Amino acid sequence: MKKSYLLASLLLMTLSNILSAQDKPEDTEVWEPEPKVISPGYSYASAPSDAIVLFSENNLDQWTNGDGQAPGWDVSGDIFTVVPKSGQIQTKEVFEDFQLHIEWRSPLVIQGEGQGRGNSGIFLQGKYELQVLDSYNNRTYSNGQAASIYKQAIPLVNATQPTGNWNSYDVIYTAPKFNENGELKSPAYVTVLHNGVLVQNHTEIKGRTAFIGQPKYEAHGPGPILLQDHSNPVSYRNIWIRRL
Ligand code: MG
Repeated sequence: MKKSYLLASLLLMTLSNILSAQDKPEDTEVWEPEPKVISPGYSYASAPSDAIVLFSENNLDQWTNGDGQAPGWDVSGDIFTVVPKSGQIQTKEVFEDFQLHIEWRSPLVIQGEGQGRGNSGIFLQGKYELQVLDSYNNRTYSNGQAASIYKQAIPLVNATQPTGNWNSYDVIYTAPKFNENGELKSPAYVTVLHNGVLVQNHTEIKGRTAFIGQPKYEAHGPGPILLQDHSNPVSYRNIWIRRL
């Protein structure tokens, strides 16, 4: 009796090891509930006098690519656009708690679907993704649509503008705090307004954004604002930040 119990639990352990070795991206997709679709108002928010303007026009001097070189993205006047496969870009400056304003636009020509349409992302402190996606008439998993904290938190509503229109995010971010031994003292929190509509209300961030598996925290200091190259020519403009 004891032997067979041991055998059975051994078998179970092996089975669960095999299963966890085969984690899939789909495991952490959440499709329900689907956030209600609303039509947002439209607003362009000029930078207040105490903000650091990270982009207004003509150059990406305050940004680098992943290797510390000049970004390969396209700048045209007061807009810049992802050049697919040129890699992510990030601010030279690093931040802890902040208020961020950023505007983005999905490609005018609709290509692809789901996660493949107008995908980019804003990584807070370079680690925690606030999703950018063309979520106008484009169903995907709810915790991966525009204004989700990717694979962690579904937005309260879908306030995405029709494809090709500008969207804004206003983000209030509290950085995670760590003890000296690297243990998490308090998690990160984020509040997001999408086109002026509350979509994340003091949402607790569960750890570094993970495509596969569960998010985990690793101790870190101040980090940049990082923009994702997900191979779609998403545009950005009017980016400013206030340290809190
Ligand atoms: Mg993304």
